[in-house]
Amino acid sequence: MDKIKILGVPIDRVTMREAVARTVEALSNDKKFFIVTPNSEIVFHANKDKKLHTIIEKADMVVPDGIGLVIGSKIVGKPLNERVTGIDLMENLLKYADESGKSIYLIGGKEGVAQEAGFNIKEKYKNLKIAGTHHGYFKGSHTGHPNSKEETLAIEHLNAANPDIVFVALGAPRQEFFIDSNIEKMNGKVFMGVGGSLDVYSG
Ligand code: UDP
Repeated sequence: MDKIKILGVPIDRVTMREAVARTVEALSNDKKFFIVTPNSEIVFHANKDKKLHTIIEKADMVVPDGIGLVIGSKIVGKPLNERVTGIDLMENLLKYADESGKSIYLIGGKEGVAQEAGFNIKEKYKNLKIAGTHHGYFKGSHTGHPNSKEETLAIEHLNAANPDIVFVALGAPRQEFFIDSNIEKMNGKVFMGVGGSLDVYSG
């Protein structure tokens, strides 16, 4: 995969179309697929935070969610084709899940937000399955409490739901720390941090 480095942080030179195609392909094989959607702020953060930098380096796909990155890429002489925002990619994956009958799990936001978001998503995409939802206010690896009881219970809930795609909306970089720490323990094929998107979907 063709990558560009901005402040030392690798970003995939993918278009939205390619990003969706790669995710769809990942859904058909057994390897887990971790998507990170950094904007300029997260790239700055990763430039200083070794742990976040390593997570982005290891991720399976890193899409440029920020016009600043597209402009920056021109300056370093390897232009990114287009901005691929997390919320647009999420929407396209929801559309795909609807067409193919895949299931999703939503985790994050205040009590009731993920559930409401799931309800609204299901209204729009009738054929998609909401495997389950969970709020994002529990102690866990994203809050510096790895292996807390609350985190274990949240993961057990997710595993019982056995989703295809897991959208994690804890804000960046909390969600990336959470996915990185737990991906091997979680059922699901595609894992994507989606920031505050559930607040948007919960309307
Ligand atoms: N959030 C969460 N758990 C947390 C912190 C935040 O579920 O421990 C959710 C919050 O409700 C919001 C989203 O993550 O839906 C983004 O939160 P915030 O705006 O605080 O993060 P930022 O966008 O500043 O990274």
